Amino acid sequence: MKRRVFVRSGLAAAMGTSIPLSPSGFRLVRQEPADVDAITGDGAEVTLRGRAVKALSDRLRGRLLLAHDDGYEQARHILNPSFDKRPALIAQVTGTADVRTAVEFAREYSLLTAVKCGGHSYSGKSTCDGGIMIDLSPFRHVRVDPVARRARVTGGSLLGQLDHEAMAYDLVTPMGTVSHTGVGGLVTGGGFGRLARRYGLAIDNLTSVDVVTADGEFRRADEEQHPDLFWGVRGAGGNFGIVTSFEFKLHPMQRQVIAGSILFPISRAREVLAFYADFAPGAPDELQLDFMMLNPQGDDRGVVGFNVCYAGLSVQANRALAPVRSLGATVIDDVQPIDYVALQRSGDSDDPRARGTYLKSGFIPGMTPELAAAMAEGMEGHPARTTVVFIQQSGGAIGRVPNDAMAFAHREAAGNMLALADWAFGADPTDHIAYIRQYWSTLEPHTRGFYTNDLDFEATAESVNANYRENYPRLVEIKKKYDPTNLFRLNANVQPG
Ligand SMILES: Cc1cc2nc3c(=O)[nH]c(=O)nc-3n(C[C@H](O)[C@H](O)[C@H](O)COP(=O)(O)OP(=O)(O)OC[C@H]3O[C@@H](n4cnc5c(N)ncnc54)[C@H](O)[C@@H]3O)c2cc1C
Repeated sequence: MKRRVFVRSGLAAAMGTSIPLSPSGFRLVRQEPADVDAITGDGAEVTLRGRAVKALSDRLRGRLLLAHDDGYEQARHILNPSFDKRPALIAQVTGTADVRTAVEFAREYSLLTAVKCGGHSYSGKSTCDGGIMIDLSPFRHVRVDPVARRARVTGGSLLGQLDHEAMAYDLVTPMGTVSHTGVGGLVTGGGFGRLARRYGLAIDNLTSVDVVTADGEFRRADEEQHPDLFWGVRGAGGNFGIVTSFEFKLHPMQRQVIAGSILFPISRAREVLAFYADFAPGAPDELQLDFMMLNPQGDDRGVVGFNVCYAGLSVQANRALAPVRSLGATVIDDVQPIDYVALQRSGDSDDPRARGTYLKSGFIPGMTPELAAAMAEGMEGHPARTTVVFIQQSGGAIGRVPNDAMAFAHREAAGNMLALADWAFGADPTDHIAYIRQYWSTLEPHTRGFYTNDLDFEATAESVNANYRENYPRLVEIKKKYDPTNLFRLNANVQPG
């Protein structure tokens, strides 16, 4: 049974009068602002008094958007259009002060709280129905210190900004592969990308974070200050608070890398998979070799092969890639010198909102003959969807960090495997989802856990807990300390008990 509670804000009580704001923020007439119906984290209905909402709006430097406001429609969406949710309030924060204000408000009313940075959550956790969305997108800034080789990145930034700024000094830190992905979500979950085998996951390059925890307090966390929080933030996502600033170490790297795709006809899938099984475990750290098998929508010219990035000395690239090329005639081999920042943008799609997606994922300990057979046998083309199975290669520097060094607990994985379908948005997804579920049922037995950033919206609490492995009990303790009421629950959630 849902209950409706009427709550009064201390802030509102302090207000002598109530003045509604127009969408553009101009003060209009002195009249009682409308109450707002919202949802708590536990799913209870709550009515927020208009005065309290107005007081929140006044305290923010950024905009507070309600359902009728200009900008609300755009702000409520995330990348995957299947998540068509409508928060009661959207706080568009411009800095740490706004984040604290929004968190205090959310906590005061126990609101269901979503945190949006780049909006790439596969499971739709960065938006919600009836709660508050804390939208970090106006809070984007990167500052590089080329002397200290450090970058400070605010909590709403996109990874393309960091690549762009750091590379201006021939410096880099490993991020993901699509430039419009948010640093906030990517880094708190781990951060796999083209340089991870050489320099580690994004979290391996974090030196400190500033966090607004569930009590609204600001905390600097690093190896000395709040080391438990620093440990938890690196792999357990947004469970403990909102990271307002990340500090990364930067590595010197030449601007030009050797990258592109080497693809063969899909009819050679078994042969290419057998090659990958032999070659990938011994590949040099400088080489990122991501396996891909793809059937384009309505086209029988499927491909199998590799997305390649060689980030070492260019004179050594040909030698590193010679075994791949020994596989013979390709459909595409466009591996060539390319500007690293341009490469990082090369996977940005023109209109990512135009398609629906369904995805399953898991870490693989290696490419066994059984897994290869299941991958090749189950892959089907279809007139109305594109189907992809992809392995983001792991190993190298990623695997040289112990599993208990931070919350991320899957260091021994050989790769992160994703099977996904995408289709024209608006088309009936039933068949596509059913196909991926069936295909995944043949692949999943060959996986060991999953990447929390690819969290499946169907994942159970048990599977999420188990996925933290030996690190789970410590995470529960940290959760109890920094978020005892589970304000931040829209994530790969650690429950405080
Ligand atoms: C097109 C695409 C490409 C991808 N490529 C890669 C890749 O190459 N490598 C890789 O590792 N992953 C990749 N991912 C997965 C990606 O890491 C996750 O989807 C990640 O959550 C995206 O972060 P975001 O900020 O864009 O997402 P959002 O949807 O904005 O946020 C996701 C979650 O992150 C948390 N969060 C966001 N910002 C903060 C913050 N400042 N403080 C605390 N918590 C926060 C919140 O819990 C939120 O629900 C990709 C995803 C997509 C859709």
